[in-house]
Amino acid sequence: MDLKADGLVLRATDYGENDKMVTVLTAEHGKIGASMRGVRKAGAKLRFACQPFCFAEYVFAEKNGRYTVVQASLHDGFYDIRNSIETFYAAAGVTEVADVLSREEMPAGALLVCAVEALERLDGGKEGAAAVARFLLQAATLAGYPVTAGDCPVCGRPIAGRRYFDMASGAFNCSECAVGVPASPSTYAFLRKAAAGDVSAEEGDGALRALRLLKTYLSYQTDTPFPALEQAISLLK
Ligand SMILES: [Zn+2]
Repeated sequence: MDLKADGLVLRATDYGENDKMVTVLTAEHGKIGASMRGVRKAGAKLRFACQPFCFAEYVFAEKNGRYTVVQASLHDGFYDIRNSIETFYAAAGVTEVADVLSREEMPAGALLVCAVEALERLDGGKEGAAAVARFLLQAATLAGYPVTAGDCPVCGRPIAGRRYFDMASGAFNCSECAVGVPASPSTYAFLRKAAAGDVSAEEGDGALRALRLLKTYLSYQTDTPFPALEQAISLLK
């Protein structure tokens, strides 16, 4: 039976003479691995649909538990993401994290929406680190590892001065309790705004530091290295 779903390409690898295997994130069915036959031939009709970051409505044909993409209609290819190497890696970091945090047959509607929003911002060219950091914050919450940037959870007092981030609990705490790794005030300020849903948080030092912290946190929680994200962090300014 055919399956129709909006999906975002998280990963694509070559196989055979002219084929690709794609991993597509969908809302209802989570991650779907599917083959795309002949798409590496020049002029192939579905060539666009196996590109990284392609967001499209896919039709998957299923046979013996294996999926093949038989049709696709484009929503957005986010082609401007390729205009700079740092934006490309930032977007690759988003899809890499979405890949690790999603499963087959596990609904992922909210994760898909957050990932597409992050790619839209990166494609718009105005945001880099801030868009990825906000996505990581949302993705961590959806995966069950929320970050808390409120009062110190150990002693209950508001946090001023130096602060610490506890990788195990995902919470900031004060300089007297000092559980975890030191974190800068700009990191805390960015995450506090972003956690409250404030998308006006600016690019810059706070966003990049928050991105670095969130990457370390997600690596700790999932035991995954996230190489594309690492590359993005070293390229983003
Ligand atoms: Zn404290």
